[in-house]
Amino acid sequence: MPEDSPLLSILSLWGKTLNITVAYYHPPFHPETLKRDFEEIRASGATSIVYAIHEQEEQRWPRDFERVLLMARDAGLKVYLSLGRFGNLFAGPVFMPSWYTFQHPQSLVKDRHGRVHDMTCFNNEQFRSWLFKEIEYYVQTYPVHGILLDEPRAPDVTCFCSVCRALCPDITDLQHFRRRSMMEFLNELFTCVKRVNEQVQTSIVLLPQDLNLVDELTSIPSLDIIGCHLFWQLLETDVSMVEKWGHEVVDAARAAGKRSQLWLQNFNLSATDEAQLEPAFSGLLCAEPDEIACYYYWRNNENPDQVWQQTRGLLRRIPRRQLFWQTGARIPVPVTQSLKAQFIKTSDIKNVEHDSEVL
Ligand SMILES: [Zn+2]
Repeated sequence: MPEDSPLLSILSLWGKTLNITVAYYHPPFHPETLKRDFEEIRASGATSIVYAIHEQEEQRWPRDFERVLLMARDAGLKVYLSLGRFGNLFAGPVFMPSWYTFQHPQSLVKDRHGRVHDMTCFNNEQFRSWLFKEIEYYVQTYPVHGILLDEPRAPDVTCFCSVCRALCPDITDLQHFRRRSMMEFLNELFTCVKRVNEQVQTSIVLLPQDLNLVDELTSIPSLDIIGCHLFWQLLETDVSMVEKWGHEVVDAARAAGKRSQLWLQNFNLSATDEAQLEPAFSGLLCAEPDEIACYYYWRNNENPDQVWQQTRGLLRRIPRRQLFWQTGARIPVPVTQSLKAQFIKTSDIKNVEHDSEVL
């Protein structure tokens, strides 16, 4: 992008800087790789990462999980934790079903014909109790800056399970009840996060086909950020849809006093698709979001290096926001000093003032 690009004019007229978030969906096992990747992400201007956890991972590799969070923080990156496929209700980077749902088949959504569907009903009390305890544990135990729900499953299947029937005896109202109870579930989930730590941010990211949920989402007081995956190529639409979708989210979020987050599709791109990265980014910025987000070396690009380098080039054109959170109270990190000493040397800790300059 040239220095006199229309994008820069938009940004200067707009007079604001953007928070940049990068999703990091890579194995946590190699500390040197994490350090290199986090430094590269931070150097791109990002101030946050999204890291996803699937139900069984924290039990199997808690030390690796701790190390990811600690190293991200010391690279100057806040961490939003995504609940990967919990209850099969959200998306996640690993394409595997929810362990909870597998172990609790009685919790499955059941349609009017008695057929079960591959997700737990969010009205199931046992599931809610388990999920909220998990969230409390993560927020209390680890230094996460936010909790993110990735592409929540839309209430497109009306559930006739015994719980829903008991809660809504009027069968003709079950469809509307499903939608109402989804919002009530999300409200309780985000309230649970805030109850544990009011400073922890709450975020939800929708697919464009679910944007009809935005207005109801804006009414949830404990929800801070509403995002959208502007995946024009994956959804086989024209790149011009990025700006249209983006405006829908940004306008609704702004009217409700919430922050908006728009996601760039920098994955699954052929060599031809790569040419659309800049128009997609331009459309995204034209919607004037509060935050933008993308992926670090995510899946199925024909030229992975080129896509990341081009993404990085686009991100580095954006003025950076001062890292306000560095001066506030730190969230305690429940890791041993030996672990910290093993991976973080004082000389490696980033100079925040230096990083906040405009590149
Ligand atoms: Zn149900």
